[in-house]
Amino acid sequence: MALIVQKFGGTSVGTVERIQQVAEKVKKFRENGDDIVVVVSAMSGETNRLIDLAKQVSDGQPVPRELDVMVSTGEQVTIALLAMALIQRGVPAISYTGNQVRILTDNAHTKARILQIDDARIRADLKAGRVVVVAGFQGVDEQGNITTLGRGGSDTTGVALAAALKADECQIYTDVDGVYTTDPRVVPRARRLEKITFEEMLEMASLGSKVLQIRSVEFAGKYNVPLRVLHSFQEGPGTLITLDEEESMEQPIISGIAFNRDEAKLTIRGVPDTPGVAFKILGPVSAANIEVDMIVQNVGHDNTTDFTFTVHRNEYANALKVLENTAREIGAGEVIGNTEIAKVSIVGVGMRSHAGVASRMFEALAKESINIQMISTSEIKVSVVIEEKYLELAVRALHTAFELDAPDRQAE
Ligand code: ADP
Ligand code: ASP
Ligand code: MG
Repeated sequence: MALIVQKFGGTSVGTVERIQQVAEKVKKFRENGDDIVVVVSAMSGETNRLIDLAKQVSDGQPVPRELDVMVSTGEQVTIALLAMALIQRGVPAISYTGNQVRILTDNAHTKARILQIDDARIRADLKAGRVVVVAGFQGVDEQGNITTLGRGGSDTTGVALAAALKADECQIYTDVDGVYTTDPRVVPRARRLEKITFEEMLEMASLGSKVLQIRSVEFAGKYNVPLRVLHSFQEGPGTLITLDEEESMEQPIISGIAFNRDEAKLTIRGVPDTPGVAFKILGPVSAANIEVDMIVQNVGHDNTTDFTFTVHRNEYANALKVLENTAREIGAGEVIGNTEIAKVSIVGVGMRSHAGVASRMFEALAKESINIQMISTSEIKVSVVIEEKYLELAVRALHTAFELDAPDRQAE
């Protein structure tokens, strides 16, 4: 008998019919004798709808504490519906909000971190033969305020519960049958991966593959939770996220390609090239609590330099203001911004043992006449910033260049 935590995402509980299908599925697992804890998201579209309502009364900037009170209701609806559907099928079940389980978080509203989970109540219910249905995405801080874990946070609830309960496996059920070499919605020839290492999945998630929230992967790696991504309504092995890095001859150099459209680029021209320049520019940005991602400094010929960096698109307007101020203060030239950029990254532990990966990437982009605006590398990834309109072309070209394409069915 195993203890399994199963998380079902928004589309998997998007209608009453789907919730009934999920109940049928959970019932089958119960009949196998497994103990089941189910974590559910809000019905698809619901979290967006709630955020939109909040924005309407808040001039676009809802107070974070109240926003959390609001968006946490989405998951409260689905836990109750699923528990009812299970009970209706003769499966004893009980639902809990994050507060009721006591998923304790810090007080960083809308992006809280889980600090501790009290598993006593859940264990008692499991012992009594119940399926426990827990609301994803939400917790409670020391003061009893409702908090949420950031978009996609139900994945993290699932993994954190699996860690706390020392579950045999955490199964993330979604609308794709596993983790693919890249988003299958963008590249139809993307391939499902049998396995991917935590390290690679962490990079993929942080670079834009939202199939798993990054925090859930961090948690799973830290507590060694066996984690699998599966399709909610199709049979199949899914993708296992694993610790081991097999040295197989067939292992591709690149495991996956991630991308995002979440960033914006800012450039400050004609900065006097003296020691401390980077600090003078980025100090005020960080003081304004704006996170900087990629940075490039080009040394000019006349003792001035151009300095470019990227921030989240939501922070673009703020960063622009800060930078224009700085430019005036330090006697720099113009400030230029661009929100129509995208970041494309190739990820793979195979890069450690292979040279020339970056140049192969640049070659593939050059063949499509795609200009690279910024580059950054780490041990297992290379990222480039390009014009947003070339994003899909770039991802497809790289997918082919690194031999990740699934075989063409028609050619078989
Ligand atoms: P859920 O609501 O179940 O949490 P999400 O929409 O958050 O589902 O995540 C699943 C989606 O992630 C897929 O529909 C797919 O479009 C997207 N995705 C992005 N990158 C990948 C990838 N590498 N492999 C699989 N899916 C991916
Ligand atoms: N409902 C939340 C969201 O849409 C959490 C989740 O689905 O994981 O982001
Ligand atoms: Mg998700």
